[in-house]
Amino acid sequence: MLPHSNPSLAYPSQTILNDEQGRLAALRNLEVLDTEPEEAFEHVVSLVRAVLGVPMAAVTLVDADRQWFKARSGLDVAETPRKVSFCTHAIQQTAPFLISDARLDARFADNPFVVTDPGVRSYAGIPLLTPEGYNVGVLCAIDDKVRDFSEGEVAILGNLARIVMNELELRRIAERDQLTGALTRRGFVDKARQEMDRFRRYGRPSCLVLIDLDHFKQVNDTHGHPAGDAVLREMAATVVGSTRPVDFLGRLGGEEFAVLLPETEPADALVAVERFRATLAEHDIALPGGSTIRVTASFGIAPLSEGLATVEDWLAAADGPLYAAKRGGRNRCELLH
Ligand code: GH3
Ligand code: MG
Ligand code: MG
Repeated sequence: MLPHSNPSLAYPSQTILNDEQGRLAALRNLEVLDTEPEEAFEHVVSLVRAVLGVPMAAVTLVDADRQWFKARSGLDVAETPRKVSFCTHAIQQTAPFLISDARLDARFADNPFVVTDPGVRSYAGIPLLTPEGYNVGVLCAIDDKVRDFSEGEVAILGNLARIVMNELELRRIAERDQLTGALTRRGFVDKARQEMDRFRRYGRPSCLVLIDLDHFKQVNDTHGHPAGDAVLREMAATVVGSTRPVDFLGRLGGEEFAVLLPETEPADALVAVERFRATLAEHDIALPGGSTIRVTASFGIAPLSEGLATVEDWLAAADGPLYAAKRGGRNRCELLH
């Protein structure tokens, strides 16, 4: 049977179906690929299994050439090539994608997941539609028996898909600091942990930079708190503007920030951080009252090394050189020796 649409489900009319670059950018923006399992998504796949009575369910994100499961139940693998995925078909339409018997569908009859394990027969997938209108993934229910999904079941799956999309949006908002757009401490630590695992596994160099604004209390005391906030925003924008796309900035709290520089040797990190320092020091920051000021910051750099077990250890390692930079007169970069 061919997939058919379910007119009882209303979808935003602005779904953008033929813009793969935009779709991949929307997916990247969610910052969810290759993250750890999270309870909210685990609950949804359990619900799908229980309510629809299927042995398999997943929250799938469709990347350039793979499908990656944010949550899965009854499925053995963490990801599959995109070309053998049912979900890559589901994201090509706005309506639910329904298959009653995959063996009778030319697109899936010789699919390895149909021919061999887990012996997929029926499938119901609801696209995960971002507010911008891109289908970034699918919430799907999979059965090893031939079946038709009822209108009611598809409606439930549709509501759960909307919950998944809301959760994806919320986790992104919680990861970002409102004032500066930098990652929150929690967001930074999560992302730094993943990078740390990755770089240690491949033995690649990586550096962490702690940043603390100089005499920031004076900025608040002299110009007021809103001016202080403007400085924090500008400072974050300036650093982000001088980093590479793979680097990321976190606001650890107050006027303390951290940047992770993957694939970077200590000597190159020092050059990059010296550039951040000079760019910030030469930048006129517009204050709410109309005047401008300049601020400086001190920087402590710690390369990733064997002895660092956690992100907190790594941050603590950068604290020494940061303190040395302050003691050495501020507006300086120091590298851990
Ligand atoms: P130092 O050069 O030694 O770092 O001096 P400092 O004044 O920057 O040092 P300290 O860490 O003691 O002061 C940090 C100040 O940052 C305290 C507080 O007034 C200010 N601050 C922290 N968070 C915020 C914020 O969210 N907004 C504003 N405007 N100020 C903040
Ligand atoms: Mg401080
Ligand atoms: Mg300070």
